[in-house]
Order: sequence, then C-alpha cells, then structure tokens
Amino acid sequence: VSQPLTPSRRAVLAGLGIGLCAIAGAARAAASATATCREPAALPLSQKSRRRGLGYVEISTDAKRSCALCAFYSAAAQGCGACQILGGGIVSANGLCNSFAPRKG
Ligand code: SF4
Repeated sequence: VSQPLTPSRRAVLAGLGIGLCAIAGAARAAASATATCREPAALPLSQKSRRRGLGYVEISTDAKRSCALCAFYSAAAQGCGACQILGGGIVSANGLCNSFAPRKG
C-alpha cells in the first residue's frame, strides 16, 4: 500500500536525489583527479626504474612545469601522452620529472 506523496515528502525525496547526484559527481571528479594513465604497479620494470631515476611524479605541484608543457611530451589520449625521455612511455599530462624542458612556442 503506497501513500500519496505529500509536498514535504516530495521535497525530501527531491533533496535526496540532488544529494546523491552531487555525491556521484564528486566521486567522479575525485577519481579523474587521481586517475593515472598507466597503473604504476603494472608498468614494466624498466619503466619503473626509469621513472624512479628521473623523479617522475603523477601530479606536478608547479603550475608552470608539467608533462603537458614539456618539449618531450606528445599528447595521446585525453590527459595522457608519450614521453620521449621515457622511450615513449605513457605519462600523465599533469606529471613531472627532473628532465622537464619547457616547450618552445
Ligand atoms: S621529460 Fe619528464 S616532464 Fe617531460 S614529458 Fe617526460 S616525464 Fe614529463
């Protein structure tokens, strides 16, 4: 037996729906902010070693220095690209390493 929706019950349900959408949106945003182009644990040992040697990090803390702004970076998929220094290894556009060289032009 269902009860008719009163205005106050309708408002509660609408608010619950908006709240769930907001939570889902925040979860998606958090996931994309932390997503990596290549799962670090799944990288070949040679890539892990080269990245470690270059001090590569997935997220640069310097707005003026990141893989997307580096001369050695070639954009591939959205937010990801290939790094010449890493032998074409896939890196995050937001990543950074000690071999960063600013892109000219
Ligand atoms: S050299 Fe370093 S900063 Fe430049 S694209 Fe490769 S990993 Fe990123």
